[in-house]
Amino acid sequence: MSHTAELIAVGTELLLGNIANTDAQMLSQGLSALGINVYYHTVVGDNPDRLRAAVELARTRADIIITTGGLGPTCDDLTKNVLAQCFGRQLVFHEPSARRIEAYFQRLHPNRPMTDNNYQQAMLPEGCTVLDNDWGTAPGVAFEADGVRVIMLPGPPRECEAMFTHRVVPYLRDLADGVIVSRTLKLFGIGESSMEAQLRERMNAMTNPTLAPYAKEGECELRITAKAADERAAHALIDPVEADLKVHFGPLVYGVDIPSLEAAVFALLKEKGFTLGTAESCTGGLVAKRMTDLAGVSSMFRGGVVSYATEVKHTVLGVDQDLLDQYGAVSEPVARAMAEGARKVLGCDLAISTTGVAGPDPDERGNPVGLVFIGLATPDGTWVRKVNLSMGRQRIRHIAASHGFDLARRYLSGLELK
Ligand code: ATP
Repeated sequence: MSHTAELIAVGTELLLGNIANTDAQMLSQGLSALGINVYYHTVVGDNPDRLRAAVELARTRADIIITTGGLGPTCDDLTKNVLAQCFGRQLVFHEPSARRIEAYFQRLHPNRPMTDNNYQQAMLPEGCTVLDNDWGTAPGVAFEADGVRVIMLPGPPRECEAMFTHRVVPYLRDLADGVIVSRTLKLFGIGESSMEAQLRERMNAMTNPTLAPYAKEGECELRITAKAADERAAHALIDPVEADLKVHFGPLVYGVDIPSLEAAVFALLKEKGFTLGTAESCTGGLVAKRMTDLAGVSSMFRGGVVSYATEVKHTVLGVDQDLLDQYGAVSEPVARAMAEGARKVLGCDLAISTTGVAGPDPDERGNPVGLVFIGLATPDGTWVRKVNLSMGRQRIRHIAASHGFDLARRYLSGLELK
C-alpha cells in the first residue's frame, strides 16, 4: 500500500518571509527516499484556529501528518495542544522527558533555574511514542489515531533534521513500500523555457519515471524520478530516459548528478592530465575562485591573473598595446591574447580568459553592459566566444565564468567549440 504524508509547518516568521521553509525541503527529500508520497506542504502562522483547519484538511488526504515548529515554550506549545485536541488526546506529564529537558537546560544554563514553561514541553499526548530530542529541548511526538500517523518535530532545522534521521526514519521504515530514485542531467547553453517547450508533451505523458525541469544560475537541470520496488528497478526505469535525453540535447548536457560545470571541467582535466590557468577581467577572479572551491584542484590548477586594469593586461599578460589601442580591452582579439598570455605566463595547458562589461554602466568605448568575450587557449589553438548577457552585474559575472568552463569542458570532451 502506498502512503501519503502531508507537511504542516507552524510559524508566523515563515509566513512573513523572514525564514525559508527548509524543514519542508529536507523532510520531502527524506520521505521521497522512503517511497512515501508528499502531495501538500502547508505553512500556518502561530494561530490555533488556522492550524486546526490545516490539520482537519490534511487528515482527509494523507495518512501521515508531520508538523514542524510550535513545540517551544514561547508559543504555548501550540502544535501539541492543537494536534492533541484534533485527535482527541489528553496531554499528560511525561516524567522521563522532563528529566531530559532539565539535563539539557542545565548543560546550557548551569546558573539559571528552569522555568515552568520549560516543563510544559514535557506535556505530551497520552499514549504517544516520544521521540527523544538529543539536539535541543522540545521532545518530538508520534502517535497513531483514526488511521493517521501524527508526527511532531521541533522547528530549528538542525534539530528537525537530526530528529528526522534518527527518530522518524526508523519509525516510518516499516511503512515504506519501494523507493524513489532521482537522477539529474545538467545542461548549459539552453534556456529553461526552450528546454521545457521541447519536452512539454513528453513530460505530460510520463508517469513513472517523471521528468521535471529546473533553472539555476544560467543553467538548466532535468530531474528524472522513478518509483520502484528497489533501487535497481528504479535505475532500470531511469536509464533509457537518460540515454534518450542525452541524444536529444547532445553537447548541451555536461553531466549527470554532477554538482557544477567546474566539477565537470575538473574531472576532465584530471582524466587528461592537463593543467588550467586563468586571465580574468570582468569576472575578477571568479573563474579561479569557483575552480579552487573544489577540493583537490592543486594538482591541475596553476593559478590566475586578475588583469582588471588595461595596463595589467599588457604588462603582466603581454597583450599587445596596439591591440588594446585598436580594439579596446573588451574585444575578441584581446580575449584571445589574454588567454594565450596566461598560458605562457602561468605555464598551463589550457587558459580561460574573460573580458567584458559587467555594468552597471557601458564602458568608455560604448560597449553595452553584458557584452563579454570569453577565451580559451589550448595546445590546438584559441577560441573566443562572444555573449550578450542582459542581466545584473553578479549574474553577468557568474554566467561569463560558466561560459569559460563550458568552453574548457567542450574542448576536453572533443566537442565542437562554439
Ligand atoms: P523551540 O523549542 O526552539 O522554540 P520550536 O519547535 O517551537 O522550537 P519554533 O519556535 O516554531 O520551533 O521555531 C524555532 C526556530 O526554528 C525558528 O525561529 C526558525 O528559525 C526555525 N524554524 C522553524 N520552523 C522552520 C522551518 N519550517 N524551516 C526552517 N526553519 C524553521
